[in-house]
Parts: sequence; C-alpha cells; structure tokens
Amino acid sequence: MQIRQPIVVVLGHVDSGKTSLLDRIRGTGVQGREAGGITQHIGASFLPTETIKETCGPLYKKLQESENQVPGILVIDTPGHEVFTNLRARGGSAADIAILVVDVNRGFQPQTNESLKILQSRKVPFVVALNKCDQISGWRKSDTKFITQAIKEQDQFIQTDLDQKIYDVVGTLSVLGYQSEAFYRVKDFKSEIAIVPISARSGVGIPELLAVLVGLTQQYLQKRLDQKEKESRGIVLEVNEEIGLGHTANIILIDGSIKKTDTIVVAKRDSVIITKPKAILLPKPLDEMRDPRDKFKPVQSVDAAAGLKIASPDLEGVLPGSTLYIASNEDDVKKYTKLIESEMKSVFIDTETNGVVLKCDTIGSLEAIVEMLRRSQVPISKADIGPVNRRDIMETRAIKENDRHLGVVLAFNVKILPDAKEESESGHIKIFEDKIIYSLIDNYNAWVSEDTANEDDAIFAELTPISKFTFLKGYVFRNTDPAVFGIRVDVGTLKQKIPFMNKDGRKIGLVHQLQLDKKTVTSAKAGQEVACSVQGITIGRQIFEEEVFYTFPPSHEAKKILAKFMHKLSSEEQEIFNEIIEIQRKKDAAYAY
Ligand code: GDP
Repeated sequence: MQIRQPIVVVLGHVDSGKTSLLDRIRGTGVQGREAGGITQHIGASFLPTETIKETCGPLYKKLQESENQVPGILVIDTPGHEVFTNLRARGGSAADIAILVVDVNRGFQPQTNESLKILQSRKVPFVVALNKCDQISGWRKSDTKFITQAIKEQDQFIQTDLDQKIYDVVGTLSVLGYQSEAFYRVKDFKSEIAIVPISARSGVGIPELLAVLVGLTQQYLQKRLDQKEKESRGIVLEVNEEIGLGHTANIILIDGSIKKTDTIVVAKRDSVIITKPKAILLPKPLDEMRDPRDKFKPVQSVDAAAGLKIASPDLEGVLPGSTLYIASNEDDVKKYTKLIESEMKSVFIDTETNGVVLKCDTIGSLEAIVEMLRRSQVPISKADIGPVNRRDIMETRAIKENDRHLGVVLAFNVKILPDAKEESESGHIKIFEDKIIYSLIDNYNAWVSEDTANEDDAIFAELTPISKFTFLKGYVFRNTDPAVFGIRVDVGTLKQKIPFMNKDGRKIGLVHQLQLDKKTVTSAKAGQEVACSVQGITIGRQIFEEEVFYTFPPSHEAKKILAKFMHKLSSEEQEIFNEIIEIQRKKDAAYAY
C-alpha cells in the first residue's frame, strides 16, 4: 500500500488559538533537528514522520506498530471554516481530518458550533484541541511537553477543574450527537471523539495531539489515503494575477500527481477549461531565497498530498473551490469535462419556485450555505457566485409578491453593484450581507421570526376582543335609537364597533360608541365604567338592567384565536373565551371547529 499524508485543517471560534496552534505545530517542525523538519508548500506545511516521531518521543512507538504508516501530515496554513468550505471534494471534503480548537475557559462558542456543523455535513472526522490550558487559574508551569505528565504535576483542585471543563465539552458534544472523552480515557477512537488538552502558547500537549492525529489517520483513513488506483485531482483554493507570473491558481493536490506535461481540466462559471500548466511552482526554501520577490521555484512534478501553484493564462476566471482534474489522455479529458459539468449543475441553483436568492464568493461557501438553508428548511430559488446584480433584485422582487419572507437576497462576502443597490432601495428589497455563515443564516431566521411576530400582532389587533361586561342597574340614559346605558367592563377590553351577545348566545348588536365622562373613547378596560350606545334595540325588550354580555367573535375568528393566539389572552380572557365558545356551541355545534 502506498499511503499519502493526510490533509489536516484547523477550525474553531475566533480567538480560540487556531493561528497560535498552527504556528506552534510549524514551530515544532522548524525546531526538528532531523533533516527537513518541515517543508513549506503553497498554503500548507508538511511535517514529515521523522519530525513527528521526534516530537512524540516514546508515544510514537505505538504508532509504528501500524502497517500503514503515513509519511507525515500536510497541515493547511490558513485556519477557519472559510478555507475549509472551499476544500470541497465530490461527496465530502478534501480535508481528511480536522482539529477543532476550543478555548478551555470558554467552551463551545458560536463559530465552534458552525465549524462542527460544516464538519458534520462534509463527514470529516476531528479531534478537539482544548486550548489555553496554561490559562486555567492556578495552572502550574512545568517543563514537560506531554500533557498527561503536566496534569499529574498540577494540584488536585486543578486536575478536578480540568476534568470538569473536559466534561463540559463532553456534555455539549453529546447534545450534538457525538460521544467524546479525554484522549487518555478513550477506549474506541472510532466511536469516541478524542479531546486533547493543550496550550498553543507553551506547547504542552502538542506531542499527544500529533500522536492522536497520526494514530487516527493510520487506523481509520487508510482507504482514503491509499494512492493505488486513485485519479489525480486537486482543489483550487485561490485564483490570482501575480506580477511576473500572470494568472495563477493555488491548488491543494489531494490524490495522485501532477506533471508539467499533464493536461488539467477545471471549471469556470460557464465553461470548462482544458489547458496545460505553463509552470508548476513550489515555495523556495528560505536559504535559497535571495530576493523576496522571487519566492517560487519551478518544478516538473509534484505528488499528493501537496500545496502548489500553477501558472497559466487560461486560468483567468477559474472558480475557487472547484475541483481540478489531471488528465493523462483524451478519454480522461472527456470524462473529467463531463464530471465538472455535472458537478457545476448540482452546485448552482436556478429554479422557478419561490425561495431566497443567494449570492456567494466561492463554490465552497455556496455549498455550505445551501446545505444549512436546506437544513433549516428555507427554500432557495437561486444560488450563484458573484456580486449581487440588478437582475437578482428584479427576481427577488417577483418572489416578494408571493412571499415576503422569501423575497430577500442573502449575500455572502460579495459586493452589491450600485444599480442593484438602487433597485433594492426603491423596491424595498432586503439584502442580508455577511462574512460569517452562521450569522448570515441566523440574522435571516431572526428577521423572519420577528417579522412573523409583528405580522401576528397586527392580525391579532384586528380580531374581535374577548370581553365580558355588565349593564349597570339605574344607568339607563336613553331607551332607544340608540339605546344608551351604563356598563362595567368585567374582563378584557371592550372596543367600539364590536358585536356582542347575551348569556344565551343571542346576538344583540354592535357596541356603537363608548363614552367616559362624556368623552368618546375607542376602548374601555376591565374595571372601567362607561356609557355605551347601541343602535336598533330597546332597553326592556332586547336587553335588561344587570344583564351580563359577551363580545361575539365570528366563528372564523374564534378558530384563529384557538389555533394561534390563545397565548395572547390573559387567563381571565381565556376563561371568558371558553365560556363564549360553550354558549355558541349550544346553539351551533360547529362553532369554532
Ligand atoms: P485565532 O483567532 O483562533 O487564530 O486565535 P489566535 O491564535 O490569534 O489567538 C488569540 C489570542 O489567544 C492571542 O492573543 C494568543 O496569543 C492567545 N492564545 C492562543 N493560544 C493560547 C494559549 O494556549 N495560551 C494562552 N495563554 N494564550 C493563547
């Protein structure tokens, strides 16, 4: 078996220490005394086995027992899920394994959750690095680089505190559907996520973290890493125009190899590019770099896994996040062209159905957001990359006519063109802009629920209020045309123009006008005594002193209250509402069903 090195990514919340951890891992490599302690790639660093062996010391013995030793690890240099989302590959991720960094004193934070969601959707195994252990209050510095040793050297209460913090993470992960445990207590690495306490600052725990990573990949990712019969392919992370080089693409080569003489097949927005690299470039080792502008050295071929740069004028407009296939013959070229075409079709969305319009900067972010929107059951009418243009707004406008909550644009890390801005302002089209995936989706969802609540408030305010009131004895002001008499509101709020009934369910008429101290009022609250006028009735015929009345919502309104608005009624109003239903049901069995 020829096993390649796994591609490792670092994810986590901002400030959890991702960059510090990467620096520490690279630093570990630089300090490696063995030849080639670390090799710099484009966008990634390669730590060879020798370096890992030296770092892990006695721990490495166990790893050597595996028949399928990996030749090292390739760590992606830029942390965070933005790069990770672009490291996409058919049916999953180009990353083989991830380190999820969690600040020991803060636990899970919003972007930790987002990282986890993305890892989950791409099915990438991960290890939790519980960072900043040196910041646990009372933590004693020690000389060892091994966390298991450092923990033993702490006071008992610190050990208990660390255990508690580990169990907090275990608890959070279990709610999210994962079993996890401190790596030294893990019995089955396949079913339990390993938590490795570390300090990126002091370096303690790094040997164990590397050992767990290598152990996991050797044991569980053999098939993925085995290079036998793998098609040569990479993923485009960045496309640039560089002085002296022209159009270039930074690639992570996932499987196989690339030679200068090979043909590459890769996606643009509306076409497939078939070309040959003008140059394949790797970074020059520091000691060979005389002029800092002259950073790259041309090479003839590179084997996976690796980070490299390809220069070719044809690369202009190539999409970051798209797969790059390496073809060695005409049949391959045809096969990969088809593959890319079908891949592009499945990524972009353009339908006639009602749904939000999504514009993103890269295919990777597009795919991740589409996945998350689908999970929260938000329909999408269009998902594409590039700036928000006028046509997007026009389409959104048409959707808004049918559904105001779907007639919006979600713009992830893209510009809004001036005419689109103008059009959105005049058409009152909402554009949600964000650079963080979870907050883009959260803000949209929050707006929908707030807007729904406001809409509900408006609908509720239009409904017949639920109220009970009593005709006060001795307060007949006028017998008829209209009848004017004094009432006391017993429960709820009584308003003008509201139908009411007596306790037998007979509709008496509409409350025409309400007056308090001879002034017209639109409503009267429970406890208030007011004068009430009603057209078309005569006191002593349809109504009598001391009689009790109820407002009378029509059946369709009562149904609406039952279905949606009971929580908006006070407990007394709920009681009266139930009485109203009872009274009406006696007359009409179907009332409010
Ligand atoms: P990122 O945003 O996740 O890349 O986090 P950084 O690596 O930039 O770290 C954020 C802050 O935490 C910086 O001030 C680091 O110096 C600090 N930091 C990172 N790791 C550790 C650690 O292990 N211990 C301590 N005490 N501070 C750390």
